[in-house]
This record gives sequence, structure tokens and C-alpha cells, in this order.
Amino acid sequence: MPILKHDVAIIGAGPAGILASIEPARSGFDVQVFEEHESIGKPDHCAGLLSTSGLRTLGLQPPKEVIQNQVIGAKIFSPSGKSILIERGQREALVVNRVAFDRWLAQKAMNNGVKIQTSSKIMSVRKYGDDWMAYSKEKNGENQILARKIVNAEGVRGQISRMIGFPYVPRKNKMLAYQFEMKNVDTHEDLVEMYYDNRIAPGFFAWLIPLGEGKARVGLAARDYSKTRLKAAIKHHPILGKHLHRAQIERGFGGVVLVGLPIRRTVRDDALVVGDAAGVVKATTGGGVIFGGIMSKLAGTYLKYSLDSAPDGQKKLEKFEHVWRSFLMKDLYAMYVAQKFIGSLTNKGLDSLIGDAAELGLIGTVKQEGDMDRQGRVITKLLGNPKTILAGLKAIRYIKLNV
Ligand SMILES: Cc1cc2nc3c(=O)[nH]c(=O)nc-3n(C[C@H](O)[C@H](O)[C@H](O)COP(=O)(O)OP(=O)(O)OC[C@H]3O[C@@H](n4cnc5c(N)ncnc54)[C@H](O)[C@@H]3O)c2cc1C
Repeated sequence: MPILKHDVAIIGAGPAGILASIEPARSGFDVQVFEEHESIGKPDHCAGLLSTSGLRTLGLQPPKEVIQNQVIGAKIFSPSGKSILIERGQREALVVNRVAFDRWLAQKAMNNGVKIQTSSKIMSVRKYGDDWMAYSKEKNGENQILARKIVNAEGVRGQISRMIGFPYVPRKNKMLAYQFEMKNVDTHEDLVEMYYDNRIAPGFFAWLIPLGEGKARVGLAARDYSKTRLKAAIKHHPILGKHLHRAQIERGFGGVVLVGLPIRRTVRDDALVVGDAAGVVKATTGGGVIFGGIMSKLAGTYLKYSLDSAPDGQKKLEKFEHVWRSFLMKDLYAMYVAQKFIGSLTNKGLDSLIGDAAELGLIGTVKQEGDMDRQGRVITKLLGNPKTILAGLKAIRYIKLNV
């Protein structure tokens, strides 16, 4: 079996793996990404909603072919149909085709010298002297890989994390999601809709994301039966159903959405873990491309520093843990607490909270301070407002007793 040697081996060619790969390759190090699927971006599972501010932070400007639509805000519905509209008259987010987005990112990485091997599944990883040794299963046999640094960007699974000795995202933080792409949808072309209702999506929400030209991604996440729940919602939810009375399903696809806090440790022994594999997502929505991407870009920078300063590189790499946490943890924690609270409310509680948010004028703060990704600031601002405390106290009367 041939032994292939690399400075950095990265497992997974999703956005996290790719964004971690660019900086060390740009600096001349040998970076190899392994992707188990034949084709990058497939099978896709994502709703493709990415904030324009987050993309700006990542320094990414997706080209026309990747963008399906642009949205200016979101309308949030309570179980009884009360709603709040959050929009500032400006372009808040892009809806991207995730397959095209991942391929575009991969091409960017390859242009910077990253090598990407598809149809290459990493089967095992272990420490081997100062290096990491991995085995990959290829179309035509197996390979043995030796790398100075290893990055786990495997997504939600957690198998490689276990092999390296990292903590992994616990099952309780995973929600099952299902989506349909539909045509002939009657909806606004520039507003996302979110439906909170424990009868259809207990603990989370259902969504409608317009793709333009009467098309939309309609989905939900829940602890169980997400596809069955989604079909029932399409049929019976009074508002969602109205948008979809003429609609036809073009295709359906599922996935896992994460809702908890990041894992406790993301660096050890010249190994890093990034993106969904590290549980770095917005707990309020499960969105992980932007925050996981920011973490991964920082990982790329610290991989480069670490390789530059060998044999003392591990100390440089340890700093990555501190830096990404100080940059992201405040927002991640605020969103986690918000999600925990919202997820614990009964339908009466959701009605009370969404109704009060509209009536007590709290939306003004969200419009002024809100950012689709960095929600820590707006949540802190809201918590400093006595009206929010009042709304929270009213809603808390309807907390579920079994969560
Ligand atoms: C229904 C749904 C809707 C979503 N909507 C949004 C959204 O609108 N906006 C948003 O920001 N986020 C959204 N997300 C979350 C988003 O998809 C993830 O946060 C993001 O894809 C994480 O990127 P990643 O690179 O960490 O992992 P992934 O994108 O999952 O990439 C991991 C890659 O690793 C590969 N891999 C795994 N194991 C191995 C192995 N052993 N060997 C080789 N390769 C391997 C996989 O094939 C995969 O390509 C959604 C998720 C779901 C399920």
C-alpha cells in the first residue's frame, strides 16, 4: 500500500474543511482534502440561507451561478397565526444552491494549491510518532496517509472525532430535518417565513425559503418523524398550506440540524476539529456555514502559524482554541440560551412571546441591533429591556414540564 505524505490532511470537503485548507496551501504547504463522495457538495441537505454580513466576514462573494435568490428579512409565525416581521429594507441574506456553493469554494481552494481527493473515505486515524496516520478507502483500493497536522471536518457524524480523541456532538443536540423543493408556490419572493408550532415541529420550527420564480424550499426539523411532520404541515398548517395549495414537490431531501453548544475541546496533539463536527452552529436555526466557516478560516491561519514555527508548532495551534472561542462564543451562547427557552415553550407560551414581541414594540430593537448571525448583541440588548423580561415572564407560565 503506498504511503502518501502531507503537511495537512483534512477530512471532509464541506465548507469547513475547504475554508480551513486555503491559508496553509496559499503559504506553500502541502494540503490534501479527502472527500468520501464522488462529487463535491452532494448529496446536499442545506436550505442555503447565508447572511450577507456573514459572507462579508468570510470575504466571500458568491458568483451569480451560485445565488438562487436574495431575501430582505423574515416573518415569524406563532401557532395561532400571530406574526412578527423582521426586515430593514436591505438585502439580509442570499439563498444559495449549496452544491454549487461548495463546488465554487472547492475550486477557490484548488486555485490556491489545495489538493482535493474525492471518492476517498477516511476509515481510521491514529497518532504515529509525531505525525498522524490515516487509512482511506478509494475506488480502487486503499491508501495510507501520513500527515503532520490533521483537521476533522467530517460534519455531524462524529466518527473521526472519536478516533482522534475529541469530544463529539451528543445525540440530544441533533434534530432530524427534511425539506421539499417545490414549484408553483404562492409567496413573497423576498421574505423567509418561520413557523413555530409544537404540533408540527416540537422544539424547533418549519420554514419556507423562497427561491424566486414561484419556487421554494419548505422544510422542518424536529426530534423525530420530520418527513411525516412536514407532509402534515404542508396539508394542514393554515398559513403554510395557503402558500402551497397549488404547489408541486420537485424533490425531497433530509439531514441533521445541530442545536447545542460547541464541543469542549477542538485542539489536541496537532489535530483540530472544525464546523459541524465541532458543533459550531447557530443554535436558534442550526445554520453552520457562516460560524463554522469563520472558525475554519481561523483554523487555516493557525495551521499556517504552527507549520511555520515547527518544531514548536503545537503551542501555536493551542492558541486557535482561545481565539475562535473569544470571537464566537458570546453569540453562540446567547443563541443557545434563546433556543433553549423558545424550545421549552408550549404553544400558548409561543403565542404569548410572539404576540408580546409585536405589541410591546420589541421588534424595533431587533431591527436596529439585529444581525442574522451575530445574535448575541441583540439578545443582550433585549434582555436589558424590562418589556422583554415582562414578555419572558408571561411566556414562562407556559413552559413544558417534560423538557
Ligand atoms: C435541512 C438543513 C438545512 C440547513 N440549512 C442551513 C442554512 O440555511 N444555512 C446554514 O448556514 N446552514 C444550514 N444547515 C447547516 C449546514 O448544512 C451545516 O452547518 C454545514 O454544512 C456544515 O459544514 P461542514 O463543512 O462542517 O460539514 P458538511 O457540510 O456536512 O461537510 C462534511 C463533509 O465531510 C465528508 N465526510 C464525512 N466523513 C468523511 C470521511 N470519513 N472521509 C471523507 N469524507 C468524509 C462528507 O461527505 C461531507 O462532504 C442546514 C442543515 C440541514 C440539515
